[in-house]
Amino acid sequence: MTVLAKREPLLVRPGARFDCVGDGLCCSDIHAVGALTDEDCEALRVISPDAIDRHEGEDAAVLMMRSDTGRCVFWSTDGCAIHSQLGPEMKPSPCIQFPYALTATPAGGRISTQHRCTCRTLGQLPLVTAEDARPNLLDSNGELKPEHVVLDDIPWSATESLSFAEYAKREAGIIGALIEGRHLMIALQAEAFPELDAMTWTEVADELLEFHGPSRAGAAARWFGSAIGFLVDRREPAGLDRPWADSFEQAGQRVVDPVSPNRVFGDWLADEVWSMRWTRFGSLARARTELATRLTIARRIAGWLDISTPKQDNISAAEAVMIVDVIGTTDIWEKAQGAIGEP
Ligand code: SF4
Repeated sequence: MTVLAKREPLLVRPGARFDCVGDGLCCSDIHAVGALTDEDCEALRVISPDAIDRHEGEDAAVLMMRSDTGRCVFWSTDGCAIHSQLGPEMKPSPCIQFPYALTATPAGGRISTQHRCTCRTLGQLPLVTAEDARPNLLDSNGELKPEHVVLDDIPWSATESLSFAEYAKREAGIIGALIEGRHLMIALQAEAFPELDAMTWTEVADELLEFHGPSRAGAAARWFGSAIGFLVDRREPAGLDRPWADSFEQAGQRVVDPVSPNRVFGDWLADEVWSMRWTRFGSLARARTELATRLTIARRIAGWLDISTPKQDNISAAEAVMIVDVIGTTDIWEKAQGAIGEP
């Protein structure tokens, strides 16, 4: 019998937390806010004709960032002008959806969250609920909109595939260990920096280090590339800056219950596994290798941040997670991911 992917019931990853407390990082050029739909563009043209941009080499329109501040044209210290003046439902669809994502599976729609914003990674935040997340996951027809779909044949390793039900049983143990935040590499059971097909880690580092310009995304690429360069070739980092520092300072003021850095890393890894986006590239065994590599990079970055700007070490960990979460979705990292073979 064919088991199809379903959007409902909505399923929340145990322990996931989020609340928009206005740290403002996600409204900045840490990422391009897009892709905008035709409806988004139509509405934005009425509100502010200059708000839409088209990124070089991309077909999709994105929200323009102010060149002087690197923030969205609608953003101010009072928050989003569209949200406050016209209502949250009038925001462009990527803004309504962030940081949620939906994966349709045979058991229902898995809600995952991105970890590139301090409103996801720092402070005493409420648990994510399906009820709260649902309005953020609807398309313009009011339908749940999955970005990713998995069927009833999940590649556990190069040689073993599982039904979704069997996969979910095994996955629960991994996610539980990751959330607990102890022995993350043991939970992943993988080695970082595997050999790549037809490219080297040095080339990946160089490509990331070639990012020029003052945007937060460019700075994140240089941190990420520097960490690879150091870990693989012992190259010392140079010229790293933190254009996002204000958001982390604001978040740091509300963190009264610091958790361990490993809890911050484990929470991010658990969402990466839960989202099942890794099925685009191959098996979970391969994904564990990729995650072990990004975890090693994140730990290196957090170590540098602890030295350069001493603060609670969970805040350095959250900053490092922001970097590896953002760069993990770039074309450069997707190319490197594609070059990781099945272990
Ligand atoms: S439209 Fe509003 S929510 Fe979206 S990026 Fe701009 S300020 Fe942020």
